[in-house]
Amino acid sequence: MAEAPVIVWFRRDLRLSDNPALNRAAESGKPVIALYIMESGLERPLGGASRWWLHHSLTDLSKRLSRLECPLIVRAGRADDEIETLIGETGADHIVWNRRYAKDGRDRDARIKSRLKSKNITAESFRANLLSEPWEIETKSGSGYYKVFTPYWRAARQAFDIADPIKAPARLRSYGQSCAGGAALSTESIQSLGLLPSAPDWAAKMAPHWTVGERGAHAALSAFLDGPVNEYPEERNRPDHRGTSRLSAHLAFGEISPRQIWHHCKANAQAAQKFLSEIGWREFSYVLLFHNPDLATQNFKADFDAFEWTNNPKALRAWQRGQTGYPFVDAGMRELWQTGWQHNRVRMVTASFLIKHLLIDWREGEQWFHDTLVDFDPASNAAGWQWVAGSGADASPYFRIFNPFTQGEKFDPNGDYVRRYIPELARLPNKYIHRPWDAPKDILKAAGVVLGHSYPAPIVDHKSAREKALSAYKRTRG
Ligand code: FAD
Repeated sequence: MAEAPVIVWFRRDLRLSDNPALNRAAESGKPVIALYIMESGLERPLGGASRWWLHHSLTDLSKRLSRLECPLIVRAGRADDEIETLIGETGADHIVWNRRYAKDGRDRDARIKSRLKSKNITAESFRANLLSEPWEIETKSGSGYYKVFTPYWRAARQAFDIADPIKAPARLRSYGQSCAGGAALSTESIQSLGLLPSAPDWAAKMAPHWTVGERGAHAALSAFLDGPVNEYPEERNRPDHRGTSRLSAHLAFGEISPRQIWHHCKANAQAAQKFLSEIGWREFSYVLLFHNPDLATQNFKADFDAFEWTNNPKALRAWQRGQTGYPFVDAGMRELWQTGWQHNRVRMVTASFLIKHLLIDWREGEQWFHDTLVDFDPASNAAGWQWVAGSGADASPYFRIFNPFTQGEKFDPNGDYVRRYIPELARLPNKYIHRPWDAPKDILKAAGVVLGHSYPAPIVDHKSAREKALSAYKRTRG
């Protein structure tokens, strides 16, 4: 009788190195089936930009696996059905995967696990994408999980005992090689999953910004550790410079693990402190998500439930398209549209603008980022939006309203960032690049700018929008 294989179910862990589930399968000595399921029926399917990334990440993973002569089997449908079908086809008696933490995935995994166990099939799961499990680190006072970042990170760092990353398997005993007829397992092509946009191909402009896949992830980390890490505490706030690692999408798809990042930083631990604390924010976001599965839809602080949001589709669209008349905000929204990414400082300013200047519900922004970010992450995005709104755990207070032009003047002092994304303002002098409405007529004319025509006039007045937001907040608090 043919030997029963083990299935490695890849999800958001699209890498060969430091992949505990893959390692377990390789060490089991059994024939290995590498599986990816394009899952249907999830509460929140991937957004467009993430789908584009997924296409390329799966292509990379599939190439890497084929070098180990282990084809990536791709199926599409409900995860439980697809797994049972594959088990029926192959007689597999063991399945391994790395854990996920968003509500729908988590519930689904628990159901699949118990169903498989009842059929005497071993189902094992591993921690692969976090430094510690979100339920592990609790306050000493017994109040449960941490709701404030600084004490969380202090406790987490002390608790960490981070093992060395696992090497990629040098060889795999693949099912196709070791079982007669095994090679005939059917697979969808990655192309047929329809992850890429076609008409129009809006992703063509994103491609030059990224090297998707495991090698691209490590190249991004090396490039960052080779220099920018040393200036990170200051430069991380400068969207006009390349001062951050740009690892977020690689992390979101599990092309690199936080443990690998942690170990690469060890040699440079002092310089990397601030950088590692940002990895800490990612961990903390997962703590919040784990304990608040509805973090993307429900205010963490219930008093925000009474907030009177404005329904203003026109203003929402202007924000989405980078047409608010505030250059720093618009550059950010156009960066997002063109590259699938937005600088962290700018995320804070654009999110604040939507919530506090336009009084539009933070969930609208969360959803737009879900659709347009290549690094969309269910924990960091929800936590980020609630942080800016003031409704979140350890959130920025509501009365902290980012000024959309002084933020630009401070963090993009020469206007390079604005000029990169808003060519229609490129010829304005630095003095007016963040506030074209203040420029004298002759300067606007010389720069070819006609406010309200070539570039919008501000859709809201900063000062009165700020006052309106503050009084709306006061009403909420009674
Ligand atoms: P670096 O500065 O190089 O940081 C290294 C890594 O640390 C990042 O890749 C990321 O994994 C993590 N990190 C950094 N800052 C944060 C943070 N504030 N919260 C959580 N993790 C962080 N990040 C996402 O990965 N996905 C999202 O969907 C997302 N949505 C956000 C929405 C809003 C409104 C805000 C304010 C922030 C959001 N962030 C999100 C956090 C942050 O903006 C990005 O992680 C960061 O800009 C990614 O760029 P980088 O990889 O160069 O970051």
